[in-house]
Amino acid sequence: MQYISTRGGMSPVSFSEVLLEGLAPDGGLAVPEALPRVSGETLETWRALTYPQLAAEVIGLFATDIPREDLARMTEAAYVEFPDAVVPLRPIGDGVTLVGLSEGPTLAFKDMAMQFLGQVVEYVLEKKGTTLNILGATSGDTGSAAEYAFRGKHGVSVIMLSPQGRMSDFQRAQMYALQDDNIHNVSVEGVFDDCQNLVKELAGDVEFKRAHRLGAVNSINLARIAAQSVYYFWAWLRATDAVAERVGFEVSFTVPSGNFGNILSGYFAKQMGVPIRRLVLAANENNVLDEFFRTGIYRPRSSAQTLATSSPSMDISKASNLERFIFDLVGRDPQKVVAAWGELDAQGFFDMSADQPRFESEFGIVSGTSTHADRLATIRSVHEAGFGIIDPHTADGVKVARENIEDGVPMLVLETAKPEKFAETIDEAIGVKLEYSEELQQLLAAPQRVTTQSGDAAELRAFIAANALL
Ligand SMILES: *Cc1c(COP(=O)(O)O)cnc(C)c1O
Repeated sequence: MQYISTRGGMSPVSFSEVLLEGLAPDGGLAVPEALPRVSGETLETWRALTYPQLAAEVIGLFATDIPREDLARMTEAAYVEFPDAVVPLRPIGDGVTLVGLSEGPTLAFKDMAMQFLGQVVEYVLEKKGTTLNILGATSGDTGSAAEYAFRGKHGVSVIMLSPQGRMSDFQRAQMYALQDDNIHNVSVEGVFDDCQNLVKELAGDVEFKRAHRLGAVNSINLARIAAQSVYYFWAWLRATDAVAERVGFEVSFTVPSGNFGNILSGYFAKQMGVPIRRLVLAANENNVLDEFFRTGIYRPRSSAQTLATSSPSMDISKASNLERFIFDLVGRDPQKVVAAWGELDAQGFFDMSADQPRFESEFGIVSGTSTHADRLATIRSVHEAGFGIIDPHTADGVKVARENIEDGVPMLVLETAKPEKFAETIDEAIGVKLEYSEELQQLLAAPQRVTTQSGDAAELRAFIAANALL
């Protein structure tokens, strides 16, 4: 499979080539030239596979330039870090089933793709005989998932900026307790956007970037999208194990969304042949995407207008992956993509309201919003019904899923984090102080390794020069 840019300015490249790239050279995003179709019969032959085996099959359709036995070895290695089950399904009543995506080392769904990325990036770098220094900014989940995925890997280091005093004790401990030589935490005086702007400034300095072999594994990374599509196949297979007439049997998914990466993976899976009826996008109070899917008008907010909510991993101002959906919406015409962003730059929004009815009829995408009060009420109702404790992001999903249940269509909600990561909100919702396992208590008490900086770009440049791999 070859990859092209949503803005039309990149000659087709392989999976290994898009793996280490952020934006395409023309500022667009890499997309598959054409997605392969998986037949109903092939899906049935995949029913007996383990999660890592299925991952090798599905990712193999994207990574056609990597030998299948190498991929199989990498997916096995990636998912051993999920001790109990890789993706368990758990019914919570009223026709809703949770799809567990947070069984990995950092207790959130970013591990699903990042653990595979740790394997494949090391593999491709070794083949190319080169090294990479991953520079990123995080407000929590992405940074820790990247650090756990790349710790101890050869030929690659991680330099991760995080905002001082803006993360939970738990998130800080998860990142700063890592003692691996190739993991560097930089705590910056400021907020997440200050960290992000520093990364952008340095990544925009072509000479510096090349000299220090800087790269990124952010949410637009195509390999992450590919690895995430696997669990839509898996969840459909498990949800239909006991269904007699299962070929073509449709299920719906609800996806707690921020940067539109997770749900985009579901959209790919649907196009590849997984019988998905609806993809329901659940937003929190920062509901730019819900507005877009309800009205066809996309009006991103400034970071100052972006609220700090109790489902913080969904607090986005611009959904970085939306362009990949827009590309398909406008009939894969790069000029129309460029025109939409031009309209946005000129007036602060673009208007696709004429196409809005197609969002559901053609693409199966609908949406909804969940607020702080909804989140608390949902955590409470699931708990009271005897189905345990769900995290605030998953609660946003369950709230919006319940509004979109259809008779005879199983509703699968992606569980994107474990409640332990957000203990304060759980306490607020149900008055339960979550107890940390012994392992997590040790993590919280462990010595931390972090460098503090003022947010000055020169200071960061010096740090990179001193610590990056050559
Ligand atoms: C990243 C994240 C999301 C949002 O996923 P996107 O791919 O950005 O839409 C939702 N919930 C949790 C817990 C996350 O870490």
